[in-house]
Amino acid sequence: MTLDQQLEKYAELAVKVGVNLQEKEGLLLSGNEAALPLARKIMKKAYEAGAKHVEFQFSDDQMQVIRYLNGKEFVFDNFPQWKVDQLEAMYKDNYHQLFVMAPDPELLKEIDGDLIAKNQKMVSKAVAPIMKYRMTGITKWSIVAVPSDAWAKSVFPEDTLEDATSKLWDKIFEATRVDQEDPVAAWQQHDKNLKKYRDFFNDKDFEKLVYTAPGTDLEVYLADDHYWMGGSKESQAGVPYVANIPTEEVFTTPHQLKVNGTLKATKPLSLNGKLVDGFGFTFKDGKVVDFYADKGYDVLEKLMENDEGAKYLGEVALVQDDSPISNTGILFNNTLFDENASCHFALGRAYSYAMRGGSEASQEELTKRGANFSLIHVDFMVGSKELEIIAYEKNGNTVQIFKDGNWAF
Ligand code: ZN
Ligand code: ZN
Repeated sequence: MTLDQQLEKYAELAVKVGVNLQEKEGLLLSGNEAALPLARKIMKKAYEAGAKHVEFQFSDDQMQVIRYLNGKEFVFDNFPQWKVDQLEAMYKDNYHQLFVMAPDPELLKEIDGDLIAKNQKMVSKAVAPIMKYRMTGITKWSIVAVPSDAWAKSVFPEDTLEDATSKLWDKIFEATRVDQEDPVAAWQQHDKNLKKYRDFFNDKDFEKLVYTAPGTDLEVYLADDHYWMGGSKESQAGVPYVANIPTEEVFTTPHQLKVNGTLKATKPLSLNGKLVDGFGFTFKDGKVVDFYADKGYDVLEKLMENDEGAKYLGEVALVQDDSPISNTGILFNNTLFDENASCHFALGRAYSYAMRGGSEASQEELTKRGANFSLIHVDFMVGSKELEIIAYEKNGNTVQIFKDGNWAF
């Protein structure tokens, strides 16, 4: 199959399974230069599906760097309110959102970490009031990724740019099931399977999980009335959509204050264009009280200084080692893929929809039940072939849920 034909299938998957665009809905599409070939196909598929309008928002990588290098201090103090208003107006007008990412893992490596953190904080704060549209399922959204030159070279440094790009495309198509005969049908089957695990966990209503692996010995209580999620979500209008393509995870909300022990990350983390590697944490009563990193220690430190919630966990996710993503055998240097290759946690904000009745509950109530709040949400990977997880029911019964990095049942 030619690249063009595969892109066509990928675009169809993004529109029909990802954002699952319905007739007369609007689509807000965004991406950089490398995203254009796929974005054009997505636009075509969206109009074929009956979109009322497709708006493409272009962002240029180099312009981001130019802004950081030349902007005066106050540029990073005030986010343009009109941008927030525009986005909210689109959400209210039944627009749904598709992000085509072509990330450069080290785009911002020359930029001062304080400035990046400041900018990140400003953006998070500005858009916080409109996060509810996506968080509560009013707005459907999805992320798909395509290779950028820098990304391809970071994954396949030995190859020429052309070979590296073509290899990364192949890995992306494997990981997203685009290489299969009928990707849309493959995703429907995959979704069913994730829902099977999700339902099992919701029925059992486990009290805590205990993780053991080299460098990891961690006890994680789950939040009161937590809810397990997996695969597609349903919008408030009742339309299923898949926010991340690919997704392999079944996840829920840990209890913010009841996490104790040590946890070692098993894959590097790319954070705002900087790489953190060889890192881990010690938790006491939910809080990170100690941490280490071979690379990017300061980046991790800054991350946790964002706010109080940045030092606590907000997500616990189970992904088995035997999945199309880990079976590609490569490290993607990108969280969208790597988090779905591996069990992970997130520092920062819990998802309200990973709590029972969470979308309607106030933040105050969610906090009382143990759901962490923060302006950040950053996933890091802890899965490996050596990972074992035991789940405890409230009556003390135990179930081994992970053995040698895979589902134990
Ligand atoms: Zn996750
Ligand atoms: Zn996450």
